[in-house]
Amino acid sequence: MNEPILRKAQPDYRWQGVDIRAYKDEASAPFRGVTRQVLASAPDLKGELRYFEIAPGGWTTLERHQHAHAVTILRGRGRALVGHEVVEIGALDLVTVPAWAWHQFRAAADQPLGFLCMVDAERDRPQLPSPAERAELEAMPQVAEFFAGS
Ligand code: MN
Repeated sequence: MNEPILRKAQPDYRWQGVDIRAYKDEASAPFRGVTRQVLASAPDLKGELRYFEIAPGGWTTLERHQHAHAVTILRGRGRALVGHEVVEIGALDLVTVPAWAWHQFRAAADQPLGFLCMVDAERDRPQLPSPAERAELEAMPQVAEFFAGS
């Protein structure tokens, strides 16, 4: 099936012919209030472009993997954990997630956080932290504060 040349933007960060999907196919990974739209995925592309939207107060799965992400914030405000660093993010900021860095995105309490994410088409499965790895992250004050959502 050929991709259309143009998918016109629709209101509310939607695009023509693009469905809103569940954030993840696996039910096992914890997250809150996240949707996914696949904007570009084709046999002649080595990558995929997705749009994720996190509802106010929501968060993506804390995970790591071999593949990297390049993220462009499109709407809203929030914070991201990348490795051991917590960064404030807003519209048009760029976030790089290197291989094997723990990462999580959290929307502000009062607005959604929407972002484009570029990723390899073929990629390894995300790993979730073990209880020990989670404890190691929580031992860092800035990370503990990030998880607490404050
Ligand atoms: Mn990821």
